[in-house]
Amino acid sequence: MTSLDELYREVILDHYRNPRRRGSLSGPHVHAEGQNPSCGDEFFLDLAVEDGVITDLAISGQGCSISQASGSMMADNIVGKRISDVREITRKFKIMMSIEDGDNPVDPERPGSVLGDLESLQGVRKFPVRIKCADLAWTTLEDALDQTTE
Ligand code: ZN
Repeated sequence: MTSLDELYREVILDHYRNPRRRGSLSGPHVHAEGQNPSCGDEFFLDLAVEDGVITDLAISGQGCSISQASGSMMADNIVGKRISDVREITRKFKIMMSIEDGDNPVDPERPGSVLGDLESLQGVRKFPVRIKCADLAWTTLEDALDQTTE
């Protein structure tokens, strides 16, 4: 294992063991649920939006370390951001996860550059069956965004 792989592993385990923003919202919000039957992951999301900005969110559900860490990182990454920016981050995350492992994009716009901790999930590409685990939170997020009127 390279030191980068090890660093990535640490980040994922940290989010899995100390998930950010767990719970539910009591104020006005939209709710979305996602499931990944092939692994048994579930992911529930409450999202509060005001003036086109994600003002608060809470996540719940359970599943494997990849699905839950991905959700926790997503929560950390998107709160306080504009919906248009969040849609762009979602797009870049999905591009990153779909790049064949071993490709090393040199484009300065490469998806990883705005993703922060989320980059640690690119190691998951080596295990194609787990990509759905990493994508679950983001597919659920897109559902929630589609329900907002903003
Ligand atoms: Zn999973």
